[in-house]
Amino acid sequence: MANLLIIGAGGVGRVSAFKAAQNKDTFKNIVLASRTKSKCDEIAKDIKKRLGVEIKTYALDANKKENVVDLIKKENIDIVCNVALPYQNLPIMHACIETSTAYLDTALAETEDNPDTYYDLQWALDEDFKKAKTMALLGCGFDPGVTSIMAKYGAKLLDELEEIEIYDCNFGNHGRAFATNFDPEINLRELNLPGKYWEDGEWKTTKPFEIQIKHNYPECGEATSILIWHEELESIVKFLKPKKAKFFMCFSDSYLYHFNALKNVGMFSIEPIEVCKGCKISPLQFLAKVLPDPQDLVKDYKGKTNIGVIVRGIKNGEKKAYYIYNICDHEKAIQETGAHCVSYTTGVPAIIGCKLMAKKIWWKEGVRNVEEFEPEPFFEEMNKQGLPIKIMEIK
Ligand code: NDP
Repeated sequence: MANLLIIGAGGVGRVSAFKAAQNKDTFKNIVLASRTKSKCDEIAKDIKKRLGVEIKTYALDANKKENVVDLIKKENIDIVCNVALPYQNLPIMHACIETSTAYLDTALAETEDNPDTYYDLQWALDEDFKKAKTMALLGCGFDPGVTSIMAKYGAKLLDELEEIEIYDCNFGNHGRAFATNFDPEINLRELNLPGKYWEDGEWKTTKPFEIQIKHNYPECGEATSILIWHEELESIVKFLKPKKAKFFMCFSDSYLYHFNALKNVGMFSIEPIEVCKGCKISPLQFLAKVLPDPQDLVKDYKGKTNIGVIVRGIKNGEKKAYYIYNICDHEKAIQETGAHCVSYTTGVPAIIGCKLMAKKIWWKEGVRNVEEFEPEPFFEEMNKQGLPIKIMEIK
């Protein structure tokens, strides 16, 4: 049994708290802390009503390491599940080092002035986690997270791994002309980066949204999918060593229309500008305040997400390919937790990661990525916790 601290009370924090409460046999004491305590209280109240489980709540500014250290000590925490924003990763990791507490996150660390970050900032803490005799599990949401676990599983089906392609499509509809499914600032910073993929031993770069293909998503149909840089490509290339690795995400025509218009007028700039005397804000931060709160989308969300990985290679001298994927239904996710699939598919894997660490099934001191562990126990949990995995052989 472990004492769990979840940091962040957005959509992913909501799902993580619900899933932790559904796994009370693993998590003895569940604490939810975030910048705005009222959001934690609302989630805790909902969990008490629906599941009868008590969750303790706190206001916490996790940008300050000392605040996190104090709460970890006060509540005797064993594992921190960080589902706040990527800006908080480093202070929370340092708090975990200081208190010898296990750590998990679902997105790589970013600084406000640079969206183009890599795992090096977090991998640099490997020795510190080893000295503290504990571990950090990085990028354990869906993408990053489950996509890498799918890739590792697929690689194990082959003698020689050639290619990994990740496909992420949200076929859901929330009825808004333009909205992001998680924090708008973090999401739009990511989509403005150049595209990048791995081929023949080097990274190749494209202009943003330059490569577009039609892809057929099993059980959902065809959708235009765009090659983008996504952070798990870095850990997949490091640990699984494919010859090629690419990530595609699909966007609706309406999304692309608004995205391009906003981009063309400069609304994605992260450079602060003076909007009134002495008041500076970046166009992107302003836009993030204007766009719908991702949580409000749950009112009308219908449809499904389809995220999967195609793994190609050689088995017994023959070319083989497997498609490993999950389909998540927005309405079912909302009914179970009050959050849509983009939050659900992130929060469920985060809690599975915490559970496997708590049970020492996934345990290696230091800073770790999900590709370093065996995928089977994770898949077993996914099948039990609401995100079933499907596997099929393809041409
Ligand atoms: P939200 O923006 O809905 O929630 C973020 C939460 O973090 C908010 O409750 C916010 O507080 C809180 N927070 C912000 N700053 C601080 C701080 N300084 N101290 C404490 N809490 C803070 O985001 P989501 O829930 O949608 O996403 C959470 C994380 O999950 C993000 O890092 C995102 O990148 C990641 N993600 C990963 C995915 C994956 O598949 N791997 C997919 C989707 C998201 P407040 O309520 O006061 O604003």
